[in-house]
Amino acid sequence: MQILLVEDDLSLAIGLQQALKKEGLIVNHVTKGEEAIYTVKTLSPDILILDLGLPDMDGLDVIKALRKQNLSIPILVLTARSSVADKVSGLDLGADDYLAKPFELSELLARIRVLERRISTSSVSNIITIGTVSLDTGSMLVKINDQETLLAKTEYMLLKALMQNAGRVQTRDSLESTLHSWGDEISSNALEVHIHHLRKKIGADFIKTIRGVGYTVNKA
Ligand code: CA
Repeated sequence: MQILLVEDDLSLAIGLQQALKKEGLIVNHVTKGEEAIYTVKTLSPDILILDLGLPDMDGLDVIKALRKQNLSIPILVLTARSSVADKVSGLDLGADDYLAKPFELSELLARIRVLERRISTSSVSNIITIGTVSLDTGSMLVKINDQETLLAKTEYMLLKALMQNAGRVQTRDSLESTLHSWGDEISSNALEVHIHHLRKKIGADFIKTIRGVGYTVNKA
């Protein structure tokens, strides 16, 4: 389960990131609203944890922008604003849950689990099929010609990022940040190595190289 944490309070963000990683969750962290919208679109995380008081824009406008673009990612709002009116407007705009600061870590984890359950029960429809490759974002299963294919986690995350954005080029930077989210130290050719392994498993032509930019897969 991949989480995008949007929080400009760095000490809180670092603490949360460590705690969530201990729970086996993959966490990306950004501090600004614009970065949050971009990252949701490019990395397709599973859950968004969103602070409302961000340096560049109001978190409520982040929710508005995402929902306007039909991005249905579950959103858990974290904020010091605890008035009923703020809660209502956040939920009305399309947030899924709301937690007022300060909060207990155990409560945050419990609420993430609720969102996870909601995602996994709807995972039957989370299958992306392109050509001979199908990828289930709920069970993380990948099939080639209906045969289950075992991928390393990093390979799965790269394939998922590419397939969820089929028809669009994924830059090296955005794919490398997918790898970084695993906490790996990335050597300069790590991305090429993972793509090479992926191509061996799913077929050489599925992932196209866009020289000097990144990679893409064609739409179904
Ligand atoms: Ca803040």
